[in-house]
Amino acid sequence: MLGRTDFVKNILNYDMGYKFLKPIRGTPVFWQSVQKDLFAMVRQLGIPTWFCSFSSADMRWTHFMEAFMCADNIQINVDNLDWAQKCDLLKNNPVTAARMFDHRFHCFLKDVLMSPSQPIGKIIDYFYRVEFQQRGSAHTHCIFWIEDAPQLGINTDEEVIAFIDKYITCDLPPETDPLFEIVSSVQMHSKKHSKSCKKQHTKCRFNFPRPPSTKTFISKPIKNVVTKQNEEKPNSGPQQPESDMKKPSDETLAKQTMTKVKEALSNEHAAYETTDDLFKSIGINQSVFEKAYQLTSNKTSVVHKRNIKDVWVNQYNKDLLRCWNANMDLQFICDIYACVVYVISYISKAEREMGLLLKHTQNEINQNENLEAKQALNKLGSVFLHNREVSAQESVYRVTNEIKRRFTESNICSYRRQYCQNESSSQCHSEQNRSTKL
Ligand SMILES: [Zn+2]
Repeated sequence: MLGRTDFVKNILNYDMGYKFLKPIRGTPVFWQSVQKDLFAMVRQLGIPTWFCSFSSADMRWTHFMEAFMCADNIQINVDNLDWAQKCDLLKNNPVTAARMFDHRFHCFLKDVLMSPSQPIGKIIDYFYRVEFQQRGSAHTHCIFWIEDAPQLGINTDEEVIAFIDKYITCDLPPETDPLFEIVSSVQMHSKKHSKSCKKQHTKCRFNFPRPPSTKTFISKPIKNVVTKQNEEKPNSGPQQPESDMKKPSDETLAKQTMTKVKEALSNEHAAYETTDDLFKSIGINQSVFEKAYQLTSNKTSVVHKRNIKDVWVNQYNKDLLRCWNANMDLQFICDIYACVVYVISYISKAEREMGLLLKHTQNEINQNENLEAKQALNKLGSVFLHNREVSAQESVYRVTNEIKRRFTESNICSYRRQYCQNESSSQCHSEQNRSTKL
């Protein structure tokens, strides 16, 4: 087919030149199609409940190191390894590391998350994607649909908050608790912050230290709150006394209040016992804090109950963290669109740049009319193959996961089919769990 010049030329004329990369994992067009599949799942199953991330702690999980030592025929106690030795072992064993992560995550999913003890509720369905950080190790982003989970805008805020508080905590346990070691080692944000914290020209884009709060609340931008009050919905959550507060002066005041909270948190000399102590010291209380928070944010979000000692702790689920024993994140989904876009376009920078690069090459080809069509396709292919940095572990995933992807793909197809057939019906998925792994 590629021999037919007019056929290939036609493809290029319609900007389809790089679409042939669609079945190749990791290409921008591949992820575009995954995003559509995920939206189809949302359409079928409704709004998912949780967004979770689980990182790899290959230097911390001793059985990883033991497996590497076994492979390299090193016979010393794993506790006697220093950091550099561990790094070398990891570097020398990318295949073992990737396979063990994959296995660990599968066991975790099957034996913990989906277990009858239901650590985050009864999972109806899930979607997850494995990604690779700059340092080359894997982590997963997951979306879970939970049976009978309350939803924002349908249930009352109190019901949603009670549900969230049942599963999520920010608590740094007492030192006597075995969980203390895990939380303090993997869930605390570094007080020095990382390079990645400053990516968006802020001090910390993850907002650490996070403001303390005496209770969990749903922060809604004030505009939404006012609209809701006008509609006089009985379920619009706790009474918001700030109906007329969308004045510029209030916004300025709110910003000042939030800055004061941040400053009080950064003040190392002031040792506040409780959140109320901190609020008192700057002349506010919980309700003023909640108003200020809502006035200064522009999206709906959950602010978790957080004591003073927990302002550097990222929220977690106790059972999951105990089992996973590495950094995790668990969030109640407030905005499904943002969540899907985040999961899918949270592609490494290299992949995003690749999209631009391919587009650029396509434009170049369009301008150069003398280029043979076949040559043009060659050029696009080689741009992709030669410009994407892939870590050793990622390569292993790419190579070994192709097989797994193939059989899970049939599930996606069945979703697509349902999506087309049942557009008008909202309740149509089988009781059987269908999973999608990408
Ligand atoms: Zn930071």
